[in-house]
Amino acid sequence: MKLLIATHNPGKVREYREIFHDLPVKIVSLDEEGITMEPEETGKTFKDNAVLKARAFAGAGGLLTLADDSGLEIDALGGEPGVYSARYGGTGKDEHVRRYEIVLSKLKEVPWEKRTARFRCVVAIATPSGMIKTADGIVEGMISRDPKGSNGFGYDPIFFIPELNQTMAEISPEMKHKISHRGNAARTSIPIIKEMRCKM
Ligand code: IMP
Repeated sequence: MKLLIATHNPGKVREYREIFHDLPVKIVSLDEEGITMEPEETGKTFKDNAVLKARAFAGAGGLLTLADDSGLEIDALGGEPGVYSARYGGTGKDEHVRRYEIVLSKLKEVPWEKRTARFRCVVAIATPSGMIKTADGIVEGMISRDPKGSNGFGYDPIFFIPELNQTMAEISPEMKHKISHRGNAARTSIPIIKEMRCKM
C-alpha cells in the first residue's frame, strides 16, 4: 500500500521516508504521483491547514495521505508568526533571511528569559473515503540574538536549543530529525497510520 506525503518539498519527503522506514507502506510524493494541485492554506490553525491539505490530496490521489503544517510560535509576539510563518513579511518564496531578520528586530528589546518559542507541527492523515486523524509535535527553544549555523532552513538559524547549546541550524540533520517538531509529530503518527492502513 502507498502512503502519499503531500508536499513538493523533497527534504520533507526524505525526512518522512527515514522516520517511516519500518512501516509496511510505500512512501510516495506528489511529484512521483504527478499531482499538481495546490489547495490554499486558508485555516487559522496548523491543524485546520493540515486537515484541509490531507483531505484534498487524499481525494485527488485516491491514496492514504499525510499532510503537515508547521511554524514558529514566539511567546513575546503573542504566538506570531504561527500559521503565517511561511508568509511573514511577504509571500516571496526564498526570503527566509528577511523573515528571521524581522523577528530579530521585533525582539530587539526583549530580554533573554522572555525569548521563549517553539516550533509546532501538526500532521493529518486522511483516507480517500474521508476518515481523518491528526498528531502534534513540538520542540521548545529560545530566539537567539544573532543567526548562527547554515543547516536546515527557515527560522533554524535563530532557534536556539538550550539543552544542546546550539541553534537548529548548527545541529546535524540526524539530530534535527530526532528532536524536531516534525520528527515528533511523525513518530506519534506511526500507530495512527498502521491503524488507518488496515481500514482502507
Ligand atoms: P510548512 O509547514 O512547510 O508550510 O512550513 C511553514 C513555515 O514554517 C516554513 O516556511 C518555515 O518558515 C517555518 N518552519 C517550519 N518548520 C521549520 C523548521 O523545521 N525550521 C525552520 N523553519 C520552519
